[in-house]
Amino acid sequence: MDTGKVLYAAADIGGTSIKLGLSDVSGRLLDKWEIRTDTSDGGRNILPDICRSLSGRTGGSLLGGVGMGIPGPVSEDGVAASCVNLGWKEPTDLPAAVRELLPGVPVLCFGNDATSAAAGELWMGAGKQYDSAYLITLGTGVGGGYAERGNVICGAHGAAGEIGHIPLNIEESVPCSCGRIGCLEQYASANGMVRLALNLLEIRSGRRTENSLHIERLLRISIPEGPTGLDSMEVFSAKDICDLAREGDPFCLYVTEILGECLGLAMSYISCTIDPEVFLIGGGLSRAGSILLDAIRKGYAKYAIPVCRHTAVTGAALGNDAGIYGCIRMVLDAVQ
Ligand SMILES: [Zn+2]
Repeated sequence: MDTGKVLYAAADIGGTSIKLGLSDVSGRLLDKWEIRTDTSDGGRNILPDICRSLSGRTGGSLLGGVGMGIPGPVSEDGVAASCVNLGWKEPTDLPAAVRELLPGVPVLCFGNDATSAAAGELWMGAGKQYDSAYLITLGTGVGGGYAERGNVICGAHGAAGEIGHIPLNIEESVPCSCGRIGCLEQYASANGMVRLALNLLEIRSGRRTENSLHIERLLRISIPEGPTGLDSMEVFSAKDICDLAREGDPFCLYVTEILGECLGLAMSYISCTIDPEVFLIGGGLSRAGSILLDAIRKGYAKYAIPVCRHTAVTGAALGNDAGIYGCIRMVLDAVQ
């Protein structure tokens, strides 16, 4: 790398790995790599590890700015609320901490990881042709982020993308990871999809639980009879369900449809409040492809208000790089 060139750095921080990248002023990604997230000792090594790794990779070039995406709410002035995935139990003043580790770097930007990923998709990915995009990431949980061209929306408490915790089913009996009940991610994440399938198999076999009944009643659609490929599996994953659905397994198609209903219902709330031009579906579960996208489109069309019924719903394009691009965009917006 040329000495003397100014570089812009990104760190997309996840619970198991941190994705790092360096770009030039045009946003061209010149280098990207990953390091492990060290959550030991209350996560106190995470920021020093990132800063050391970035400094070691610049090849003598100056860092013109650093952007970081955090897996949790981040306020506009860069304070991360307690971040369980990183082991951070107390609020962390990110600008103060990074300024000490990287003295002299003129621009430091911080945001929620999913919000940054939305900005990345809008800039370089599936949102390129749009002026606003809502990115929904379906993984272990459900994340979300909204970006308008040149503007990332964090909200007063940094919680503008926390759609995984939109309450959908106030009659749920099992608590969500957030401590409340009936949140979207209890149904529309990879874990939620498996739980849904297990619940519905219980209903089918007559071993009804109170919880399952609520799901059935909420959606008012009946469960298909007949065998399912899941009958022969002792344990199964969301991927198994999607694979079987793709092969035409009626029960798995039904589970997929319910996930689409739950997510579509939540997306209709989002349309009523911020009305994005496009919904982008990303995260590990989105690799299931059209079988899931079609179910989500169907669920959304069922619940959206008429004026928003035709909002585009499409797959995200940048995969794991979306967050890196979003962090670099944040920095370049602050520099320019
Ligand atoms: Zn929750």
